[in-house]
This record gives sequence, C-alpha cells and structure tokens, in this order.
Amino acid sequence: MINKISFVIPVYNEEENLKRLYNEITEVANSLKYDYEILFVDDASTDNSLSIMKELADLDDRVKYISFEKNCGQSAALYAGFQNARGDVIITMDADLQNDPRDIPKMLEYYGEYDVVNGWRYNRQDTWAKKIGSKIGNFVRNWLTNETIKDTGCALKILRADMVRRIKMYRGLHRFIPTLMRLEGAKVIEVKVNHRPRAFGQSKYTNLKRAKEGLYDLIAVRWMIKRHLKIKVKEKNV
Ligand code: UDP
Ligand code: MG
Repeated sequence: MINKISFVIPVYNEEENLKRLYNEITEVANSLKYDYEILFVDDASTDNSLSIMKELADLDDRVKYISFEKNCGQSAALYAGFQNARGDVIITMDADLQNDPRDIPKMLEYYGEYDVVNGWRYNRQDTWAKKIGSKIGNFVRNWLTNETIKDTGCALKILRADMVRRIKMYRGLHRFIPTLMRLEGAKVIEVKVNHRPRAFGQSKYTNLKRAKEGLYDLIAVRWMIKRHLKIKVKEKNV
C-alpha cells in the first residue's frame, strides 16, 4: 500500500537540469496515480538552482524545497529530505538527469515485498575512470561489509520512509543506504535501470576524493555491522 510518494533530490549547482528533471518526474508521477511531492534539497548552490526551485514551487504546490546555508554534502541533503518528506515512500535520485524516472514504474512493482528497491546501472554512462573506480569501490565495500550489492552508488532508490528515517546519517553514509537499511530489517532488491551521460553541469566528485572518503566510512559501517544489537526477546510482561 502506498499513500504518498516523496521524491527527494539533493541539488548542488544543477541549474540547467532542474526544469527538465521536474518535467520528467511529473510526467511519470502523474501516470502513477499516487499522491506525490517533489522535495528539492538545495545544498547551498552558488548558481540559480534555488530560484528555479522557487519558480517551480510557485507553479506547482507539490514542489517543496529546503535550502542550506552552507554546503553540507549529499548525505546531509538526503537526510534533511528524509526527515522533511511527508510520503510513506521515498524515491531518491540525482538532480543531474543521469537517472531516468521512467524506470520508476518497473521498480515500484517490487516495492512492498521489498523495503528498498535499489537501481543497478548495468549500462553505466560515465567516464572509464569513474566506472573502474566504482567497480573497485563496490568490490571492496561488499568484501568488507559482507554484502552483494552491485551498485550501491546508484542514486535511484525506492525506500520505505519510516525505516530510512531511523538511520542516523553521517557525512558519506549515503553510499551505504542499502546496507544500513538492511540493519534496520529492510529487504533489499536491485533492479536494472537506465543510465544517461551527464549533459549539463559537472560531477561533484573525483575518484580520489570518493576513494579516500569511502574507505574511511567503510571502517565505520563495518563497525556498525559487527556491533549491531541483535536482541531477541524470549519473554516479557511490558
Ligand atoms: N550533491 C549535493 N551536494 C554535494 C555534492 C553533490 O547535493 O556536495 C548532489 C548533486 O547535485 C547531484 C547528486 O548530489 O544531484 C550527485 O552528485 P554528482 O552527480 O555530482 O555525483 P556523480 O553522479 O558524479 O557520482
Ligand atoms: Mg551524477
């Protein structure tokens, strides 16, 4: 059962992409027949992203926005989106049009039986360096967290809202959302999705930055998995 979908989109300097993204999302969302909102989280963009969000919100009251005072990173933007979203289902995606909202109807078929439907960019449209970096990243991550997730970095995800809100996010942890949700009891599935080259604006990450941060974060996530409380109550009268 789905009552309302919240699209949560982190945005850092994506002015050329926002109107197109809005059009693509509304086209798909209107065909789904669920109530929905589109929540843009502006991570202190220095271009016109915020004024475009405001323009869209004036035209369409399903468009919501939060704007940060200073750049806090993608995890913080997602976290703020999760906490402020009013849907019981959250769909995340990047603002750069690399994800394709037309994959959503197919992904939603798995939602319900699964609490996390994670996209898998099997035909990834990025530079060679990025693709290799991501392959190594996924391999090391899976190895050290005992996971089998092929593409944890795919931003297109469908998430059960009450479960994702229980996760305490820290900087960098957006790369581990499926694992962290599994710790909360979520059932996770990966579904093949389309991926497109970035046509406007620039990637905000380099391989080196991602590798350095990712490795450091991996220590924390590995610790969380090991130290996770696995309480099984035998009896109680409370
Ligand atoms: N982003 C953000 N804050 C940041 C960096 C990125 O909100 O500090 C957003 C960005 O606008 C995009 C998404 O996070 O919507 C992913 O960033 P990007 O597309 O640059 O990453 P890539 O696809 O290159 O890994
Ligand atoms: Mg991108």
